[in-house]
Amino acid sequence: MEAQEAAVGYDWLRWSTGAIGHRLTGSIQGSMAERAADSLFRLSGLPRVERFPFEAQAWSRGMVKLTIGDGTGFLHLAAVALANTPLESDVEATLIDAGNGLPMDLDGLGEALKGKVALVNIGLVDAPKGTSNLHRSEKAALALARGVSAILFVNQVEGGVLLTGTASIDGTLIPVPAACVATEDGTELRARLAQGQQLTARLSMSNHSDRVKAHNIIAEIPGSRWPEEVILVGGHLDSWDLATGATDNGLGSFSILDLARAMQAHTTRPERTVRFVLFMGEEQGLLGSRALVEHYRATGMIDQVKCMINLDMSGNPRGFGVGGPGTWATQVTEVCDRIRAVDSVGFKGEVQEAIWLHSDHQPFLLAGVPVLYPLSDLGGHVYGCYHSSCDDIHLVDPMAMVNNVRRTGLLIYGLAALDTLPPHFKTDQLRERLIQAGLEGPLRIGGDWPWE
Ligand SMILES: [Zn+2]
Repeated sequence: MEAQEAAVGYDWLRWSTGAIGHRLTGSIQGSMAERAADSLFRLSGLPRVERFPFEAQAWSRGMVKLTIGDGTGFLHLAAVALANTPLESDVEATLIDAGNGLPMDLDGLGEALKGKVALVNIGLVDAPKGTSNLHRSEKAALALARGVSAILFVNQVEGGVLLTGTASIDGTLIPVPAACVATEDGTELRARLAQGQQLTARLSMSNHSDRVKAHNIIAEIPGSRWPEEVILVGGHLDSWDLATGATDNGLGSFSILDLARAMQAHTTRPERTVRFVLFMGEEQGLLGSRALVEHYRATGMIDQVKCMINLDMSGNPRGFGVGGPGTWATQVTEVCDRIRAVDSVGFKGEVQEAIWLHSDHQPFLLAGVPVLYPLSDLGGHVYGCYHSSCDDIHLVDPMAMVNNVRRTGLLIYGLAALDTLPPHFKTDQLRERLIQAGLEGPLRIGGDWPWE
C-alpha cells in the first residue's frame, strides 16, 4: 500500500534531475544532493538521520582534445576523459590496436606496446567463447604495466555515445591520459590500422583534482525485536557528470529514499534494525562505502551488519542475487516465495547465487558480510546510456522504482523476521568463494585481494 499508492521516489528523482542535475562527488551539485537526501529522510520522519563524513580526492574534468594523424592530414575526434586521468598531459604517439585489452591481447603484443597509444575495447569484441571481461580500470592497469603512453577506450554502444568512468583501480590519478571514443570512430581507426596505415594519436587534456569532504547519508529504523542486528540497504547517490545519472544511480538511491519513507509510514516495525545508506564517491572508486566499512571494522560495528543489500541501477526486481555462506540462499528463497505469493506479476522469486565487484557491496563482502542485490533487467536503452551523456530521466520507468521499493521492502521485512540470520563468511570460506567466482585476478589487479 505505502509502497505503491503513496510512491514519491520517481517524483523526487525527477525533481532532483531538474533542480540539481548530476550528483558528482565533490561538486556543488554533489553536496546539494547530499543535503536533499538528508532532508528527504527527515521529511519522511526517520528517527535517526546522520551524515557520515569522509575525505576524498575528487577528480573533475576540464578539457580534452584528440587528434589523429595519418601522415597526410589530421582528424579531430570527439572524446571524453576517463576519471582519475592526469591534471595536465599532452601525449603524441603511434596508435596501436590492443583489442579487448585483456592479458591475452596484451601478451600477444609484448614490447610493441611500449610508448604507444593503445586502442582498447571497453566491452568484448570477437573474444573466444567463455572469455570474461575486465573492468576498464583493470584494463588500464594492465596497459600501464606494459608502458603505454596513453589509452583510447572504444565504447561499444552505437550512436556516438561517449562513456566516462574511472580509469584508476584505487582512486589515485593514473600517470597517462585515457579517454573514450565512440564505437563508430573506434571501428574506423581499427580498420585503418588493419589496412596497415600508420596512425598517430595526440591526446591532450587538463583536469582538476581537489581534496573534498563528502558525506554518506544514513538513516535508520530501529528493530522492534533485535535492534542490535542490522539489515543494511544501500546504494550510491553520486553520479557521473555527463548527464543527470537518472538511472545510475538515481534509480537505486531514490528508491531507497522512498523505501525509507514507506517503511517509516508503515504500522509494522521491522524486527531487526534497517539502516538506509546513500553512498557518495562510488563512481570515483567506492570511496564512501570503503570509508564506512573501514569505520565499522575499526569499531566492531561490522559484526552487527547481518547483510548488505545493494541497489545499483536496479529496477523491477524479478528476484534477488545473493552472495553469502551457509543457508543464505535457502533463506532468501523462502522469503522470495512469500513475496511471490503477494506480488506474482513480474516477480519470479528467482534467487541467484553470484558475487561480483565494483559497486558499494564490495567492501562489505570483503569484510565477510553477506550481500544481496535485486536481479533487474532494465533493457538495452538503459544499459547503453550507463555512464554516458544520455543517462537522463526519460529512461526511468516510475513503476520500476515502485517495484524496487515494494519487493525490496518485502524482502527486508521477511529477513528481519527470520529467527536467525546466518553468520558472516569465515575468512577461508570467503577466499574460496572469491576464487570460485573468478574474482581473485580482478581483486589482485585492483590491490584489493585481502590475502598474500
Ligand atoms: Zn552505479
